[in-house]
Amino acid sequence: MLTLKKMESQTPGKIFNNSKITKIISLRKGRTKIGARYVVAKTSTPDLYYGKAPVYDTSILVLKRKPGAVKVPLKNLRISQAYVKVACSCPYFTFWGCEVPLYKSDAADIFYSNGKDPNIRNPAQRRWVCKHLLVLFKKCAFEGL
Ligand SMILES: [Zn+2]
Repeated sequence: MLTLKKMESQTPGKIFNNSKITKIISLRKGRTKIGARYVVAKTSTPDLYYGKAPVYDTSILVLKRKPGAVKVPLKNLRISQAYVKVACSCPYFTFWGCEVPLYKSDAADIFYSNGKDPNIRNPAQRRWVCKHLLVLFKKCAFEGL
């Protein structure tokens, strides 16, 4: 299981740079039947070369309280204090080796990728995330979610 902080710490610096022009187009917040918080966003980054701005589905789901976090009911647990599961429909998350290493740490489901080890683009299986998730992490912290 992983926290957002852990994923951020393994994400390459260039992805943080790329995230600077990424925007959240819409944000939906909710809770599962057991009260766990989730956020689902439409995110987009203008492609300066092609002049397009594809839109992706980016999400975070709270799984459980991380060890050492303040003991609060699940419904009051902040995303930063929790182990989470993440997903993004963008090509980076799918094809650059995000999903499988995160899946092996119970921090993602195999949903967008083919589930094979990213032997070429992430052979060390670092648990990194895409720019869309970085922006969504920041938004959640800003909103106190
Ligand atoms: Zn993404």
